[in-house]
Amino acid sequence: FPRPQPSYEDFKSSKPQNVGTNSSERVNATFVTLARNSDIWEIAKSIRNVEDRFNRNYNYDWVFLNDQEFDDDFKKLTTSLASGTTHYGKIPEEHWSYPDWIDQDKAKEAREEMGRKKIIYGDSESYRHMCRYESGFFFRHPLMMNYEYYWRVEPSIELYCDIGHDPFRFMKENDKKYSFVISLYEYIDTIPTLWDSVKKFLKSHPEHVPSGNAMEFISEDGGETYNKCHFWSNFEIGSLEWLRSKAYIDYFSSLDQDGGFFYERWGDAPVHSIAAAVMLKKEQIHFFNEIAYYHVPFTHCPSDEQTRLDLRCHCKPEENFDWKGYSCTNRWFKVNDLQKPDGWDKKD
Ligand code: GDP
Ligand code: MN
Repeated sequence: FPRPQPSYEDFKSSKPQNVGTNSSERVNATFVTLARNSDIWEIAKSIRNVEDRFNRNYNYDWVFLNDQEFDDDFKKLTTSLASGTTHYGKIPEEHWSYPDWIDQDKAKEAREEMGRKKIIYGDSESYRHMCRYESGFFFRHPLMMNYEYYWRVEPSIELYCDIGHDPFRFMKENDKKYSFVISLYEYIDTIPTLWDSVKKFLKSHPEHVPSGNAMEFISEDGGETYNKCHFWSNFEIGSLEWLRSKAYIDYFSSLDQDGGFFYERWGDAPVHSIAAAVMLKKEQIHFFNEIAYYHVPFTHCPSDEQTRLDLRCHCKPEENFDWKGYSCTNRWFKVNDLQKPDGWDKKD
């Protein structure tokens, strides 16, 4: 006879409480993961990495979001791996569907055309809902409303160094609103009219554009054209309050009206990055050099050997993407007058 399996509810009530050594110093923050039930083993690996390198000492919460109900297997495994409290949310239908102003036949034709052109995810409908959700809705899910900061974690990522301090606390104490570890150029075929849409927004909402922003990072002609630089949003630590601000919501709503999430294939990476670059002061965007990270196919590994030894890193420095030709991090350092770390020009 098959033995009865414990349900998630039984398991949850018997899970021992973890008490990390630094958990009393937490700020109001959570990890957040958008995933399908089928992502279970890939997200398990990511959680294990995040816990071993950081969260076992802090026990920050973890919010999981999905357009379908999470199943018991997913909830049991992820709750067993995460040291903090876990929450599971279903995305409301109206945040993962077509707004009424979208012409669905036109959207379908666009997918078919982009599929023929072999544009990455060009033919995928779900990927478009995902990008739109990450661009405009995850931060207003009911489970996210009580938190101030988030850290986005995707399936199959790796962390290569100990995180010897609390990045959430760093964000709060230094008034940072957005952060990144990898930046690069976007494929123009996914966003042909995104910049036109941004310019239209900027014209109608000049009040949301502070002086001292990072426009220079994303445009080489004062905002006339987009140079396609963006922060890679599969890693993000950021302020939820900024994303919930009138400025960001006005921005997202304006872009959403223009339809490019469906008629093109606008990614949440350029959408978030452009918002950060034009609507924040440049000091409010932070590059986390000491967070060594991998998401296929790119690695961020600190250039400086002493940093790698101090943080017990196991990444290969020659795989670091920062100073390679397709990275925009070089430009980030230039426009901010930052000094590059020791070892940046070391030959492979
Ligand atoms: P890539 O990194 O751009 O190749 O895209 P991913 O496949 O990693 O998707 C980005 C994130 O969205 C990951 O956290 C996925 O688990 C999640 N995701 C992608 N598509 C879906 C979907 O249809 N439903 C749900 N619930 N999550 C999705
Ligand atoms: Mn991914």
